[in-house]
Amino acid sequence: MNNNLNSDNEECVYCASKEVFFVQLRKNKSTNKNIYYCEICNRKFTPNDGFKGFRHPPFVIKAAMRAIKNNQSLGQIVQSLNQNFNIRVSRKTILDWKRKFLN
Ligand SMILES: [Zn+2]
Repeated sequence: MNNNLNSDNEECVYCASKEVFFVQLRKNKSTNKNIYYCEICNRKFTPNDGFKGFRHPPFVIKAAMRAIKNNQSLGQIVQSLNQNFNIRVSRKTILDWKRKFLN
């Protein structure tokens, strides 16, 4: 019995690897927090706080996060997402992603 099986086929929000393992953090008696732990980049993420519910596909968000890490301005990122993916996002959306995915 392996509770850590990645049965949902989640992929890492940071590096898109499927080598992620399900971990349950016990916060108190009534609240459990489920997180995923990525074996490839050693980062943790919460699936519920991840890409589900976002209007944009993960590769767009990943591209934006990469651009932020490369110190591109929000204006540049908006423009390049529009050019590369023909997707319009606001600067605020990118800031929201940044808050979610980059700490
Ligand atoms: Zn990863």
